[in-house]
Amino acid sequence: MIHVLKHVESITQHRDRTLLELGVASALFELVKALEVNLYKVSEHGGEHYLARVTHVGQDGVRYVQSEFDDEGMAAPLGQRREMVACVEQTQIVRVHDSARDAYVHCFPINVDRRVLGVLEVVCGTPLATEELDTAEGFLGLYRNYLSLLDYSERDTLTGLLNRKTFDENLGKILQGLSAGDLSLAGDSTAPPRRRQNDEGKHWLAVVDVDHFKRVNDQFGHLYGDEVLLLLARIMQESFRHQDRLFRFGGEEFVVILRATSEDEVAVALERLRASVEGHLFPQVGTVTVSVGYTGINSSDTIPDIVGRADDALYFAKENGRNQVSSYERLLASGKVSAREAPNSDIELF
Ligand code: GH3
Ligand code: MG
Ligand code: MG
Repeated sequence: MIHVLKHVESITQHRDRTLLELGVASALFELVKALEVNLYKVSEHGGEHYLARVTHVGQDGVRYVQSEFDDEGMAAPLGQRREMVACVEQTQIVRVHDSARDAYVHCFPINVDRRVLGVLEVVCGTPLATEELDTAEGFLGLYRNYLSLLDYSERDTLTGLLNRKTFDENLGKILQGLSAGDLSLAGDSTAPPRRRQNDEGKHWLAVVDVDHFKRVNDQFGHLYGDEVLLLLARIMQESFRHQDRLFRFGGEEFVVILRATSEDEVAVALERLRASVEGHLFPQVGTVTVSVGYTGINSSDTIPDIVGRADDALYFAKENGRNQVSSYERLLASGKVSAREAPNSDIELF
C-alpha cells in the first residue's frame, strides 16, 4: 500500500503532461511487473483515427515524446491494430494473446467524458489478475482526472483549440528541441544527419486573422461572431494534418504551427485553408475571409522574433487587399518588407 502511495505522490507532483504520463506508465510497469507499458495518443483526422506512441517503459528502458513534433510521435492508422480498434470504439478494456512473443496485451481506454484520448497498453507474461486490473484501473482513474484538468487549462473554451498559454509552452519546447539538436551535432562529424529535419522538414508558424471581423459583430451581433469563430476553428482542424498544432491566439486571431519539407508545401497548405474559408457559407453571415502571414522557425529564434515576423507578413497581406497568404521570407527576398531589427541593436556591448 505504501508502495502504491509513493507512486501516487510522485505522479501528482507533475503539472507537465509528459512527466505525468511517464509517472503513470512507470508506476504500472513496476506494480504489475509488466514486460512493457505503452501510452498511445488517439487523434482523429478526416474521419480516420490515428495512434501515436507517446510513452514507453520497458525492460529496454524508457522513451517518451517531448513534443508532438518528435519523430517518435509519428502516428499510424488505428485500424492496423484490431485490439486497439475494439478498445477505442467500445471504450472497453481489451485483452489479446500475442503469440509471436507469447505475451498478453491489455488495452485500457483513456477517456475524458466519452472522448477516447488515448490507450494504455500493458504487456505481461500472464493475463493480469483481478487485483492487478484494479490497480491499473485505479491509476487510470487518477490519470483521467488529471488529464481532464490539464485539457481544461490548455484549451480555449469557445473553439476547443489550444490556448495562448499552451502556445508559449509548445513553441518553447520546439525551440528547446531545435537548439538541443544543434548542440548534439556541433563538433561531431560522425553524427547521422538530423532525421527530423530531413523526413519531416522544418517548423513553420502562421498567424491567421479574420478580415473585417468587427463588421461581422457590428452587423450580426456578437453571438454570430462567436459562431463564425467556432466554425473557422472546425475548418482549420479539417485543413491541417493531425500533428499540426492549432491555437486560438486571441480574439479573432489563430496560430498554426506546422512542419513541412519546403516552403511551397506550407504555402499550399495555407492557401488551401484560405480558399476553404472563402468558399464556406457561414449561416446568416455569408462569406468570411482570412489573411495569413507565415515564417520559418529557426533554432536561434525567440518566440517574439517568430511571432513578429509572421505578424509583419500578416500586416502586408492586410495592407494589400486581405484574403491572401504572405510569407515573410518571400516578402523579404523581394524587398517588400525590410528585415526586422534585432532587439537592442542600438546597444553596444564591451
Ligand atoms: P482586419 O481585417 O484589419 O483584421 O479588421 P478586423 O475588424 O478583423 O480587426 P480589428 O482588430 O479591428 O477587430 C477585431 C474584432 O474582433 C474586434 C472585436 O470586437 C472582435 N472580437 C475579438 N474577440 C472576439 C470574440 O471572442 N467574439 C466575437 N464575437 N468577437 C470578437
Ligand atoms: Mg481581423
Ligand atoms: Mg486581429
